[in-house]
Amino acid sequence: MVPRATRPDLTFNVAQLLREDIGGRRNYEFAEPALELDGALVLRDVRGVVRLTRTASGVLADARAAGVVDLECIRCLAAVAESLSLAFRDEFHARVEVNTGMPLPPPDEDDPFFISENHMLDLGEAIREYALIAMPMRPLCKPECLGLCASCGVDRNVTPCTCQEHRGDDRFAALRALLDD
Ligand SMILES: [Zn+2]
Ligand SMILES: [Zn+2]
Repeated sequence: MVPRATRPDLTFNVAQLLREDIGGRRNYEFAEPALELDGALVLRDVRGVVRLTRTASGVLADARAAGVVDLECIRCLAAVAESLSLAFRDEFHARVEVNTGMPLPPPDEDDPFFISENHMLDLGEAIREYALIAMPMRPLCKPECLGLCASCGVDRNVTPCTCQEHRGDDRFAALRALLDD
C-alpha cells in the first residue's frame, strides 16, 4: 500500500472517510515513540502502515506495525529487547451517524473497537491488544540461556558452578515422578 500521509501519532480523524461511500479508502504511515501496553510494559519505536476502509458500520483498519518491548529473560533476568511485528485487520464501529450526530446501535460483537463521537479512530487501542497477544510468554535472552543457578545464584552464562550435577539429579527425580504417575 502506498502511504498517503505520515501521522505523528496513532489517532486518525475519519470524519471525511465516514462521509464517503462504503469502500472509500485512506492509506497512512504512522510512528509513535512509545505506546503504553499494560502496567509497566511499553511498546517503543512503534511504526507501521494502515489502510482505512469505509464499511457499513464504521471503518476497517488493515494494519502492519512493528515495535520493541523491553522484557526480562525468564532464566537469567537479563534485559531482552523483543521486536514485535503485528499484522491485523479489525473494524472500528461508529458510535454516531457522521452527518446527523444520531447515536448508532452497538455492533453485535464482543469487545468491539469504537470510533469516538468526534470521529477519531485510535489505532493504538488495536495495536495494544494485538501486541499483548504477540508478547512472548517466556522471553529468553538467547535460546540456549543457562539461567541463574537455583542453588548458588551465579549467572551460569558467565560463571560455571559445581551445583550442576545436583541439578541433574533433581531433573531425573522429576522425570521419575512423572513416569510413576
Ligand atoms: Zn537469559
Ligand atoms: Zn551453583
